[in-house]
Amino acid sequence: MGILKKLIFPPRCAACRCLLPYDGAGGEQALCRDCRGEWELEKLVRCPDCRRAMIDCRCMPDMIRNAGCAGLVRLVSYDPARPESAVNRATNNLKRIKDADAFDFFASQLLLPIQNRLDEFELDMTDICPRRRSAVREHGFDQAEQLAQSLAKLSGAEFETLLLRRRFVFEREQKHLTAAERLQNAGRAVRLSKAGRQAALERVILIDDVVTTGATFSACADLLRHAGVQLVIGACLAVAVKK
Ligand SMILES: [Zn+2]
Ligand SMILES: [Zn+2]
Repeated sequence: MGILKKLIFPPRCAACRCLLPYDGAGGEQALCRDCRGEWELEKLVRCPDCRRAMIDCRCMPDMIRNAGCAGLVRLVSYDPARPESAVNRATNNLKRIKDADAFDFFASQLLLPIQNRLDEFELDMTDICPRRRSAVREHGFDQAEQLAQSLAKLSGAEFETLLLRRRFVFEREQKHLTAAERLQNAGRAVRLSKAGRQAALERVILIDDVVTTGATFSACADLLRHAGVQLVIGACLAVAVKK
């Protein structure tokens, strides 16, 4: 963001929207001190299933595992019952405010955990780079696309839109459906883009902001696997807590 733009639209905390002191630090300034503190603590909260810190948690919803996802990197968990938490406020704001500093900040937060996961496959972000025609990708939601683009910019990986959202009207609200119905609906709501059909992709990092039921994420992973992608690793800011 240019200095002039910053003066006209002073940077605000991505979670609580308080005014941030301008120090030209760009993405590092996306959260105020209090919200940043809360965000960092959330990363260390223990997963109720594996007891690891959230940022190290390897748990994956069955639906996503069954769709052939090799891993799911997440930073924190998302609890819909805590609307005032920094995690909820930040992820909700990402859906409605196109704040480049915020996307850069959250993408930079994802970078190291993704690199750590890629290490296990003896890969690094340069294996997911333009010349290999592999890509960091998005699956249709604007905030996920922004996040994927920031991540691509920071890591040198290529961003490519591989999946598109179909215009699809859900007959009932997703939350009232069974897991199988959700997956079926989600499968009808996404399709491969032209680039997705043409690219001979080996490895894809599937980016989303928040994974709630996992149905859309699973449908995307499934499409990519069926299109011949060998390795799909998911990455998101937050996975919703199980109810
Ligand atoms: Zn704040
Ligand atoms: Zn876990």
